[in-house]
Amino acid sequence: MRASMSVLAIDAAGAENSKKTPNRVTSYITFVLLAIVSAVALGGLLRIESAYKDVQQLRSAASLARTAVDAVSEADRTVLQLLAKQNESPDLGSLTLAARAADLSIAQFLKAVTDPTTLTVQRDADTFAKRIDEIAAALRTSRYDQARSIYNDQNVEALAETLTGILKSAADRRVAAITVLQRDISSLTTWILVLQIVTGLICIIAFFLASRKSRRDSLDRELAVAATDASRQQLSHLFAMTDMLQSASDLEDANELLRATAIKLLPTGLSGALYVFSNSRDRLMLSTTWLRGDDAPELPKQIGLQECWALKRGKPHINGDQKHTLHCQHHGKSEVALEIPMIARGEILGLLIIQSRDENGEQILEKNRNIALALADAMSLALSNITLRDKLRSQALRDPLTGLYNRRYMEDALERTVLLAEREKTAVSVIMIDLDNFKRLNDQFGHAKGDAVLRDTAAAILGQLRETDIACRYGGEELLVVLPSCSIEVAAAKAERMRSSIASFTVANGPEISASFGVASYPATSVTTKELLLHADSALYSAKQKGRNRVVRYDGDDLVIHATLPSPLTLMAAE
Ligand code: GH3
Ligand code: MG
Ligand code: MG
Repeated sequence: MRASMSVLAIDAAGAENSKKTPNRVTSYITFVLLAIVSAVALGGLLRIESAYKDVQQLRSAASLARTAVDAVSEADRTVLQLLAKQNESPDLGSLTLAARAADLSIAQFLKAVTDPTTLTVQRDADTFAKRIDEIAAALRTSRYDQARSIYNDQNVEALAETLTGILKSAADRRVAAITVLQRDISSLTTWILVLQIVTGLICIIAFFLASRKSRRDSLDRELAVAATDASRQQLSHLFAMTDMLQSASDLEDANELLRATAIKLLPTGLSGALYVFSNSRDRLMLSTTWLRGDDAPELPKQIGLQECWALKRGKPHINGDQKHTLHCQHHGKSEVALEIPMIARGEILGLLIIQSRDENGEQILEKNRNIALALADAMSLALSNITLRDKLRSQALRDPLTGLYNRRYMEDALERTVLLAEREKTAVSVIMIDLDNFKRLNDQFGHAKGDAVLRDTAAAILGQLRETDIACRYGGEELLVVLPSCSIEVAAAKAERMRSSIASFTVANGPEISASFGVASYPATSVTTKELLLHADSALYSAKQKGRNRVVRYDGDDLVIHATLPSPLTLMAAE
């Protein structure tokens, strides 16, 4: 029972774990993608920054080169002007200034760059400066011819042109490099923009997925909470049922509880039936049903043990609608049935059947299997308790040798039966039976044989009775039968059949077996229970007197004779 109930609780938890792995993988992929994209974008930004720095350096070098070109050209131009004005006093200040400017600008250019052309520039610049100095020295002392010859012979103009050419091409190279770098910067910027868009998209998709997952998770949580609540409610119904079943005094009570709980616990559309073992324990009898509509196939009143797979295997079995599956013989084909053998203390006590007529009946029953198992568990325990209680009660009420009621029970039952007959104006007959010469049988064939004859006699008597009749062992080899709603004539006829059946026990070379019968009836011969017993006893005495092995009905005359006397059999026993 506890096992089935804990299974119910576990049901509610659901299969959450299976969903976790794919979600985690998605998160990892998103994270790695974002990391890659961000790293690439960062690398791009650093590259752009360094490219900007390069551009700035190149731009400044190009500008210094151009300044140097201008300064060298200016110095050259100044020299030429001074050489052209040989009669005037030369303006050496302007030449010194131009030469220094050229020197300074070339020095600044050389400081800003490191490429191999710097050596040539340095060398040419030094030569150029030296020639200018020589020309200035010649001019300072008005040696115009010498100054001109230095200028012409030393190719100062060509030197200036070479120098400016190198500087110009250095500036042009840098301008070209700037163009390339700017193109790089622009394409890198485009790429970074694309990456930013991709990052944004990944973030949006990740956010969308995460929010969808969180929505799904919260829905799952709500479902799990609802399932747990339902489970808790099922458990409380089952506990209530188990608790109340403890006090169920008989099968009727237990059936009612089972019906009520099953209707509460199982979903609409599922009907059910309970079969319990017959007293003879050779078949199961239909004990109760619930929610079986008028159009449901009629259930068999009884099921043989060999007709049912659940009983044969001792395990739950589904009689499905598929042709290839095993079907019990008793199963109605228009529905699907989950059959659970009810076992307690190692003994099969009954069969719980839950039926569905839905086209997905098999899945519905599978889904509710645990509830059905818990119901079967609770009910089997109750059935076992009821059987045990019945056994104890029967032990208190019945004679162990013959299985008939004992005398005390009979006296109560007779009292009740006569009162009822009085109220309902019906008859009650009593047959008193005594085995003939039983002492002799015991003496000749042993006490065990006597016991066996007593048991056979009890069975022969029961064979003639209706369900409402009560047979008891009145004492020793004396038996008594109470027949409610039975006239003296019918009772006497029944007694006659019993007599002939007992007499037929006699076999060749065996003991002669017979019994004598006394019959009395309310209200025909007697009006109280005391009188009924007395008069039946009196008729029995009469049967013994008349030669035994016969049935005698009490008549009024005997009543007059024996009413005032003690019981004839008591007298006989005293003899
Ligand atoms: P009658 O035909 O007059 O009734 O003769 P009887 O011998 O049957 O009557 P009696 O009352 O003399 O003897 C009854 C015998 O039944 C005595 C007793 O040993 C025997 N008896 C009573 N109870 C049992 C029992 O439980 N088992 C067996 N084997 N014998 C029993
Ligand atoms: Mg006897
Ligand atoms: Mg006797």
